[in-house]
Amino acid sequence: MTAIICGKCRQEMWEVELPRYEFEEGIVLENVRGMRCSEGHVTFTEEQAQEMERRSEDIKKYAFRFVRSVSKSARSLVIRIPVDLAKHLDITENSKIEMVPMGKKKFMIEVK
Ligand SMILES: [Zn+2]
Repeated sequence: MTAIICGKCRQEMWEVELPRYEFEEGIVLENVRGMRCSEGHVTFTEEQAQEMERRSEDIKKYAFRFVRSVSKSARSLVIRIPVDLAKHLDITENSKIEMVPMGKKKFMIEVK
């Protein structure tokens, strides 16, 4: 492995594990591999940056996910909207939404 030289102080950098690093705003990763010099400057190799990007994408994909059961009201079926999701989407009682099937196992709900 070739040595990586710090772009700020020209000292050699070593691979370290950072306890926490915010690669993308609002998404804090834990135990991130990075390169650090003796002055404490931090940088990332291409491979390390790709790993952080992949982990950030996973968090974005799964952070806002709710599983709910369908219940029945008269002849219609009811899906309850979790309060956090309602706040996020600014849905209140009497909000209008549009439901659009997306194939056989999926539908999209758009807030009108
Ligand atoms: Zn440095």
